Amino acid sequence: MASNERSEKELLSELFALYAEVDDRLSEATCPASSECCRFGRTRREPYLTSLEIAALAKAKNAGQPAKRERPPPLSLPMFQAVADEGLCPFLGADARCTVYAARPFGCRTFFCERAAVPFPLPHKEMLAFVRRLKELSASHQPRGDEGRPLRSVVASLKGAPRAQRRR
Ligand code: SF4
Repeated sequence: MASNERSEKELLSELFALYAEVDDRLSEATCPASSECCRFGRTRREPYLTSLEIAALAKAKNAGQPAKRERPPPLSLPMFQAVADEGLCPFLGADARCTVYAARPFGCRTFFCERAAVPFPLPHKEMLAFVRRLKELSASHQPRGDEGRPLRSVVASLKGAPRAQRRR
């Protein structure tokens, strides 16, 4: 490794420092925890992840997943269609909480639905500065690591990735 190159561990540490800054900056925001932003079929918005964010999620997934998941009963066809239409994030738990909350990507920290109260929203310029830093870290992580990929396609490619929970 060249002396100016950072290891993945160092880059992940910088990523989590960046996440902490974003969280701190938005700490006054309140969210009704509806989990709507984790239902991409409803919002029509899905977070795009850089390579470094994927690495953070892969580690969290391995550390945080329960050994066994309860198998839900089979769904009827209309119910199955309803679940598919929801476009649930595979990391959304059966209790409608994020199972990788500490490692959730940048997009999940900054997506706010209209029900969230954000007294001090991030000005566009500040948001862009955070995004620039995220991209710089990710470009140092992998060639073209700064190019975002949709969350669900990323998760599908992770070994042992969770499937979206079905709702009864
Ligand atoms: S990673 Fe977590 S916060 Fe982000 S969409 Fe998925 S369940 Fe929601």
